[in-house]
Amino acid sequence: MSLLPEAEETKGRRVLFGQGSERLYAGLPEGETETVIIEKLPAADDLFALPDAAHPVPDAQLCSLRSMVGSFLPVEGDVMLREEVIYALCDMALDYPLAEGITIIRGGLTGEEQNAWQKEAVERYEKVGREAAEAMALVPEGGESEHQTGWAVDIRLTGTLQMGWRDALQRNAAGRWLTEQMGSYGFVYEGAGAACEDIHLRYVGKPMAKVIHVSGQGLEEMLSMLEKEKAVTLERNGQVILCMQLVEEETMQIPLGMITRLSVDNRGRTILCATAE
Ligand SMILES: [Zn+2]
Repeated sequence: MSLLPEAEETKGRRVLFGQGSERLYAGLPEGETETVIIEKLPAADDLFALPDAAHPVPDAQLCSLRSMVGSFLPVEGDVMLREEVIYALCDMALDYPLAEGITIIRGGLTGEEQNAWQKEAVERYEKVGREAAEAMALVPEGGESEHQTGWAVDIRLTGTLQMGWRDALQRNAAGRWLTEQMGSYGFVYEGAGAACEDIHLRYVGKPMAKVIHVSGQGLEEMLSMLEKEKAVTLERNGQVILCMQLVEEETMQIPLGMITRLSVDNRGRTILCATAE
């Protein structure tokens, strides 16, 4: 029997997910902390927004990918996205020739554009004898899609595709690279048919993408877990990489010397994320 789990138990720490080098624990790490005053931190972004019919979101402030980076990224026409997402895509393109197998086809949409897409999808489905409800499940109404947040980007694989793969992202080398690596750039992929017609990547920032990768859960599940546990800590080889806390007080304790970011979802939760780098 391994000694490690016993040692963890004696320290009173509960492993939530992970094995090997990366583990997600309940609670904050031990060691020195500092106090942060929540209202003095930069205003919270809505990085963790989870739009649906009960929790619609307003149109976001977006940037044109073309005007920001020209043809540095492979894009069909132009798309609008959050600046941070465009930079994250550029980081990917510096490490992998995305243009060899990927085209960006959709980014942030206004509620009106989303409605137009839904209408077009319903017509397209009905034309081939499929249910309107089927189209509406994949293409939600305006305000109810992640595309309204500007944190979601749809891609299409290009070139010769190996269609035998059920998971669309496995069908070429660029897609397989993305599957392996997107988490390090802050993106997650919840699989085909998750409220989108195309290969739909969601930007959640590097810390949350790491937590999602280690846990194998989705964003919604991780936010629920955070609500229950109040704080989680991710360690790699025993080193604290990040901790996330549900903000419930005006001041919070974070490990000394970490970088903080405040994000909200659209369901009343504020998350304080502290990272080592
Ligand atoms: Zn999408």
